[in-house]
Amino acid sequence: MTKIQSAVSVMLVLLLSVSCSSVPGGEGPSDAEINAQAAKAYAEVKAKSKISTNREYNEMVQRVAKRIAAASGEHFQWEYVVIESPEVNAWCMPGGKIAVYTGIMPVLKTEGALAAVLGHEVAHATRRHGRQQYARAMRENMLGLVVGAGVAIGGQLLCETQTCKLLAAAGGAAAGFAITFFDRKFSRADETEADKFGQVYMAKAGYDPTESVRLWERMGAAMKGKAPPEFLSTHPADETRRANLTAWLPQAERFYEQAPQKYGTGEAIR
Ligand SMILES: [Zn+2]
Repeated sequence: MTKIQSAVSVMLVLLLSVSCSSVPGGEGPSDAEINAQAAKAYAEVKAKSKISTNREYNEMVQRVAKRIAAASGEHFQWEYVVIESPEVNAWCMPGGKIAVYTGIMPVLKTEGALAAVLGHEVAHATRRHGRQQYARAMRENMLGLVVGAGVAIGGQLLCETQTCKLLAAAGGAAAGFAITFFDRKFSRADETEADKFGQVYMAKAGYDPTESVRLWERMGAAMKGKAPPEFLSTHPADETRRANLTAWLPQAERFYEQAPQKYGTGEAIR
């Protein structure tokens, strides 16, 4: 079979399992179950990736991620990693597993912009976005199917991101979670909520929230014609997003005023 044929058969199996599974509603997986899958997938990503030794990047990601985590008020088992890769990307898996790719750093230009991105990604995790997708995938035993023969090849083609492809090739339970995680598409409402909470988190963490508006402008211009990172996914439209972030500024600025320590836009990123 060619790769495409394998991928098609994999998709058929997945589709069949979706349409045939008549699992009654039930409670779905708990936070603990989803977080356990995420932790496994995160460990796989770290094992398969080149971890950055750039001291400046590592120190900055550490301190920003810690401040955003604290500002979120969520008691996750937080972890942070900087991955050496040209990919312009950053994400936070359910349960607070954060990764920042070195490729995004020069595009961000400031520590404050990194806080805005991490605020957005962390908000997806704290607001439990994509939970229904994970719940459905786990209910339909996709993890089990993915472990099945040949699925790794299908996973390679089903995946959009490099990280996902890497994990799918590795196979195992982590791959099933990774496919759901990296290829999930959040709803417009989820994206808007992540923008809103993200802006509050960065302000509470002591970063000037106006940097969130400047970030989207900067990233939008820099990413023209390239594969956009998660937080620049097509919805909401750029103008809507900018208008929203600007409208929410007064609220975020109140949190910024109350922040025990203020860093402004933080250090510049070279
Ligand atoms: Zn997002």
